[in-house]
Amino acid sequence: MRKKIIAGNWKMYKTFSEAVDLVKKIIPLVKDSAADVIVCPNYVCLSEVAKLLPGTNVALGAQDLYWEKEGAFTGKVSGPMLKSVGVEFVIIGHSEQRSYFHETNETVNKKVKAALENGLKPIVCVGEVLAERESGKTEQVVRNHVEGAFAGISEQDLRKCVIAYEPVWAIGTGKTASPEQAQEVHAFIRGLLSRMYNKAVAQEIRIQYGGSMKPENAKDLLSQPDIDGGLIGGAALKADSFAGIVNFKG
Ligand code: PEP
Repeated sequence: MRKKIIAGNWKMYKTFSEAVDLVKKIIPLVKDSAADVIVCPNYVCLSEVAKLLPGTNVALGAQDLYWEKEGAFTGKVSGPMLKSVGVEFVIIGHSEQRSYFHETNETVNKKVKAALENGLKPIVCVGEVLAERESGKTEQVVRNHVEGAFAGISEQDLRKCVIAYEPVWAIGTGKTASPEQAQEVHAFIRGLLSRMYNKAVAQEIRIQYGGSMKPENAKDLLSQPDIDGGLIGGAALKADSFAGIVNFKG
């Protein structure tokens, strides 16, 4: 049985004091959660949020990393830097990175490798845009994303990864994939992992759904057999709505 895993992606929201305030509100609300809980603040707030997490059941995630360890790469943050402030998970290949910041399957793969080399657990985002869904290319796109992200990754390392299926047309739009639409792609990803690696590891990997998940639709999505959690954007910015998803009753 895979334990559910719910991560809040705070994107480029929350100043220092707002981030501290939000995590202080989240911690007591999710303390009895049956799921793993992760918050992913912006880089500036990571170390301060990290100070509030020991002794809680909330883990820290970052929203991206650069694949080099250090160097003249203005504006970038490396794996060792994230590790040094207590980051455990890192989101890689988010659709906003892919569409606005030139993220490709190749850079995703380099980041996945860099994260693993530095003891970070990647949350790898995959998913199709609306035109791809409408032209019947969802599986082809998702297969490219998955094969690209995990090229050269061993089975042992795959076990440290989480995959987030995020149909781009459902991100921040209020349009959620139906539980059946999401389940179909999650099952496809698991089948793909089974062919790329083996059935046992495919059964172990947790696959989150992301795209306008909120307390009202979380239960139906999270009750699907291959949906193992959520990557939450908008609804993660308020403690009560995030906790409403984390504490869903199946
Ligand atoms: C996301 O950005 O990963 C996301 C799922 O956003 P939202 O929940 O706002 O659709």
